Formats: sequence, structure tokens, C-alpha cells
Amino acid sequence: MKFAWPEDLVPEFAVPHATVPIIGRDKGFPVRRIYCIGRNYAAHAREMGADPTREPPFFFQKPTDAIQYVPVDAVAEHPYPTLTKNYHYELELVVALSKGGTNIDPASALDLVYGYAVGLDMTRRDLQRGMGDQKKPWEIGKSFDHAAPIGPIHPAAAMGHPARGSIVLKVNGEAKQSSDLSQMIWSVPEQISRLSEAFELAPGDIIYSGTPEGVGPVVKGDLIECHIDGFPGLALRIV
Ligand code: MN
Repeated sequence: MKFAWPEDLVPEFAVPHATVPIIGRDKGFPVRRIYCIGRNYAAHAREMGADPTREPPFFFQKPTDAIQYVPVDAVAEHPYPTLTKNYHYELELVVALSKGGTNIDPASALDLVYGYAVGLDMTRRDLQRGMGDQKKPWEIGKSFDHAAPIGPIHPAAAMGHPARGSIVLKVNGEAKQSSDLSQMIWSVPEQISRLSEAFELAPGDIIYSGTPEGVGPVVKGDLIECHIDGFPGLALRIV
């Protein structure tokens, strides 16, 4: 990949770079881009008013500095964002790439995957819907500070490639989202293949692979608990 900027130019000041811890490694996973797929579970597509049978996959991005690292065995404090009165959780399996390319065949797409994590695609739903109703970009609903909580990266070399397994989110102990990774409309290899038609993928790219049905609001004080089979649980308190 060629970059347009002079690579040997010394920066005038330092800018932090999102890096996510990797289970069993001393080094972290540097995040280059955050891609997200919309409406990738049929029952969630229906609850959002879409027809899951006819829609091709679509993608959006969040800024990498929207990453909020959520450690295992601690409750992370997640700030309630500005402007919204309808702040939603979306629990998602996150795919982390260590290789890139264009026009990737689904059959070889998993070769790009370094590992997986548990993540939340936090959403200011009222702003997302409001902009959509006006046929304006929904960015303000999806791309804001702390909008991408994520747990540690688990290398595929150790855990394999999860294609099934329960995905459950609880709010204050009550299950709100409960589905199975096998219910994705577009599988992880298919997502990578489709994304690579629109963008040149590169090491450090991560993909939020969509959320199942049961999305809903949280308010200050709520406890969000996340579980995906094969991963330790994550917990966040809305503050
Ligand atoms: Mn989502």
C-alpha cells in the first residue's frame, strides 16, 4: 500500500493511536480502521423495519479513537454521550485482520483474520433515525467518542474461527439480546469479501460483524453484561 504523506516527516506533536491488548501477548493490536456491517441478523433487520431477504450487506465506519478498551474482570465506566435521549447497545463479534487485500475470495478470506473480540456498536438511535429520515448521513448516530467498546483480541491461532455460539447481552441482569453467531445473514468470510470489493483492506482493520435482535436503550447507572461463547464476559456501567 502506498501512502500519500511523507513517511519520514517527524510529527510536531504526538497523537495517540488505538491499540487493543491481545490475550497471551505482550504486544497490542494496532487498529487502522473500524468497519461495521448493518442489519446482519434477520430478526434485527426486521425490528429495524428492513426486509432481511432482499438487502445486500452495507457497511459504515467509526473513527479509531472511538475505541474504548474494556478489560476482562473489571466493570468499565462508559460515559453516556451528549445530544441523545435514546442510547442503544448493539453486542457484536469483532473480527481483527492482520493481512489485507482487494477482491478477496470468501474461500480464502479467513486467511486475513488475526483474531476476534467482543465489542459493542454503541448507537445514538434517535440521531441515527432522525438523520436517516432526512436522507442525511447517520454518522452522528454511530461515530462519536467511546462509540466502540471492545474487549481484548483473542488470536484465531488459539481459539479458531467462531461461526456459531451464543451471543447474549444483559442489562441489569435481564437478557435483552440472545441469539447465535450462526444466525448472521452474511458470514465473516462473506463480509470480508464484500468489504474488499469496496475498500482495500489492510492489517489493523477490524470489523464489527453486526448485532442480533433485541437492541434497546440504556440510561446512566445501567450495567451492561456481554457474553459470546468462547470469550470471557465483558461488563460496562453507564455513567
Ligand atoms: Mn451494529
